[in-house]
Amino acid sequence: MIIQELLIENSLQQTECRINVLELLINSETALSEEDIMQKIDRKFNKTSIYRTLNTFKEKGIIHRIITDLNISKYSISKKNMTENHIHFECKKCNSVYCFAEYGINKLTIPEGFENKDSNILIKGICKKCNFNK
Ligand SMILES: [Zn+2]
Ligand SMILES: [Zn+2]
Repeated sequence: MIIQELLIENSLQQTECRINVLELLINSETALSEEDIMQKIDRKFNKTSIYRTLNTFKEKGIIHRIITDLNISKYSISKKNMTENHIHFECKKCNSVYCFAEYGINKLTIPEGFENKDSNILIKGICKKCNFNK
């Protein structure tokens, strides 16, 4: 996935902040919080810029938000072939959150009259890394 192309595709201006944040999210194995991003870019941009950038990306559907067990928002890149109700995994040991875009439930059943607009499936457990480093 090329960052510049992704921004053009979504008619977004190529600001340094947007490019930096997008690069981080694309290359990250786990979902990132605002604070994770701030640390990784050495606080080159202020919190407001990061917040705005993440919000713009979220509105455009470039990224999606995951709310962790501790109520922290983390963000992961959205993939085109993403399963509608895909799974997120939170590690109880290292608190990493993974987005399993290709894994999920294709059809969730809910009572008649209710409409599913956004679902969040969060599995809690021990991640691969922590399982290997026992
Ligand atoms: Zn872990
Ligand atoms: Zn996800």
